[in-house]
Formats: sequence, structure tokens, C-alpha cells
Amino acid sequence: MNVILIGAPGSGKGTQSRYLMDKHNFIQLSTGDLLRAAIAAKTAVGLEAKGLMDQGKLVPDDVMIKLVDSYVEQNKGKSIIFDGFPRTVAQAENLELVLKKNSSAIGKVIYFRINPKLLVKRLTGRRTCVKCGEIYHIDSKPSSKGDICEKCGGELKQRPDDRKEVIGERLDQFSKNTGPTIDYYIKKNMLAEVDCEKDPELILKDIEKILGLSN
Ligand SMILES: [Zn+2]
Repeated sequence: MNVILIGAPGSGKGTQSRYLMDKHNFIQLSTGDLLRAAIAAKTAVGLEAKGLMDQGKLVPDDVMIKLVDSYVEQNKGKSIIFDGFPRTVAQAENLELVLKKNSSAIGKVIYFRINPKLLVKRLTGRRTCVKCGEIYHIDSKPSSKGDICEKCGGELKQRPDDRKEVIGERLDQFSKNTGPTIDYYIKKNMLAEVDCEKDPELILKDIEKILGLSN
């Protein structure tokens, strides 16, 4: 089953995504990774995207959709997590077409609801391993090795995105884009909400229930 995760940065969406991959064999589509890979491989779409980015332009929806299309095609039969995509209603509609073409569909859309104040606290305290991407938090999940990753020994850093100065902007941008997308999935009766102020393990249980995954 394919699932879309929608949540502001800091809502804990990334942690749940990792759980779903580790425990339930999901794979995750990241449009950023797809874009980087296509550019590195110099595919037709990759070259098109690079040309635009070199001119300082945003990569338009139709290019992103082509990337998503080939990813879905290459991963037929697997359960995909769409994280950070679709961001807009137009992307949501296009994703539906792409999946349909590949005899697939979205099973559920999970929205991570969280209070904005808590979100700011979560984001500013977040530290990310530069090597393996493991996420820590100075209050709720500190590394026992200080600013070194427990898993791989990599260095823990604050992502530039998580600095207090830029968070307000990020959150505004997020609600502006995702509000209509969330409404779109509510109308289609596909949206389920999780309360992400709980412990991550409990949130996972809620998600497993929503997706009908039992242990
Ligand atoms: Zn690490």
C-alpha cells in the first residue's frame, strides 16, 4: 500500500517514515534524492532539470512528475511512502494519474497534527548526523556521545533550516502550500490524522492501525 505523509518540518514525520521502512518494508520516495540522482545520471529529465536550476529557476511540476513516474514504474509492487510530495493540489492530481497508469493508488494520507509552539521547540533543538541522517534532539533524544552520532560516529549538526531565524518562514510556507492539499484529501475521504505530540512508538501504533498493519 502506498501512503502519503504530510506534516510540518519537526512533526516527527521523518522518524515514522524510518519506522515504516524498517518494520514494514516500505520504501521512501524523496523528490530531492530523485532529482539529484537524475542529474548525476545525466538522464533526459535530469539534464532538463539541471538546465533550469542553472538558470536559477525552480524545477516545474511536469519535470518532477516525470521523475516520480519513472520511480513508481521501477518500483512496481512495492509499498511507497511519499514524503514531502505532493505539496500542491496540482501535484496531488498528477500523482493520482501516474499511479493509475502504473495500476497503483494511494491507500492513505496521514496528516501529522502538531501545535506550532511545540514545533519550534522541536526544530531548534534538533541535531542531524551528517553521515547517516540519524536525528537527535538536545532535550528529548540526546546522543550519549555528545555531538557524535551513536550509530555511525558521524558529526551531529544543526541543519541550517532548523535555525530559529528561518523556522517561521518555513512554517508559513508549509501551511500556505499544504492547507489546500489537506482539504483535497479530506474531500476524497483519504485523510487520517495522527497526534504527533505522543511518543514516537505510540504514534507508530496509531499509524499501523490506520494502515491496517498488524505485528
Ligand atoms: Zn550517524
